[in-house]
Amino acid sequence: MRSLLAGLGHIAAPRVCRVCGRALAAAEEHLCLGCLVDLPRTGAHASEFNIIHQRLGHNCHVDRAAGWFFYRRATPYARLLVDAKYGGLPRLARSLGRICAAELMADGFFDGIEALAPMPMHWTKRLARGYNQAEEICRGIADATGIAICHSALRAAKSHGIQARQSAAGRYANIAGTIAPGRGASTLVGRHVLLVDDIITTGATVAEAVRALASESPSAISVLALGLTTTN
Ligand SMILES: [Zn+2]
Repeated sequence: MRSLLAGLGHIAAPRVCRVCGRALAAAEEHLCLGCLVDLPRTGAHASEFNIIHQRLGHNCHVDRAAGWFFYRRATPYARLLVDAKYGGLPRLARSLGRICAAELMADGFFDGIEALAPMPMHWTKRLARGYNQAEEICRGIADATGIAICHSALRAAKSHGIQARQSAAGRYANIAGTIAPGRGASTLVGRHVLLVDDIITTGATVAEAVRALASESPSAISVLALGLTTTN
C-alpha cells in the first residue's frame, strides 16, 4: 500500500525547474531553458589559463579538465548538485551529466577519450545514500557520448572524515590513501580515461584519484566535474 501511495505521489508531483521553481515544458528536464541559458558556466576547458589545472597544481598531471558551472552555495544553482547528491535523485545526476556532456561534446572535449571512471564512494556511504552520484553522472555522459563506463576503475579504500569543514592542507592530509585502483583498473592500460565527479573544491580528492589511476598506466587522464567551487 505504501509503495502504491508513493507511486501515486510521484505521478502527481508537478514537474518544476529545480532552480527557479517554474513549471517545466514537456521537453525540459529538471531545468527550464531560461535557467539552462543563465547557468554560470566556467568555460574552463576552453580557456588558455584553465583554473582547474591551476587548482590541481603541478603535481597532478591531467590532460583536459572541465568544470561545467560555478558552484556557489548561496545561489539556486547549488540546489542542482545538492539534490543530485543528497536528495535521493539519481535521475537528476544522470540528466545533468547528459546535458553537460552534450555541450562539451560540441567543443571536442571528449575526442579520443575511451573510458569513464566515476569517483568512487565508500560502500558504507553508498549503502546509506543508495547510489553514487558520480556513477549516475557517468551514465548521463555515456548516454550523450557513447563512451563506456569502467565502474570499478577506482575504489574507496577507506572512509575519510568530513571533507567540507577542512582547510585545503587538511583535506590533502585527510584524503591520502583513501582511493585505490579497483578491479577494473587493469582495463585502462594505454587508454585515455576521464575521471568524473560531481564537484571540484580544493582538488584534493581529484588529485588522489588521479594518483590511483596513474598507477595503472593509462595513456592520459582527464577530469570532468559538474560543479567547480569559486573559492578554495
Ligand atoms: Zn528555471
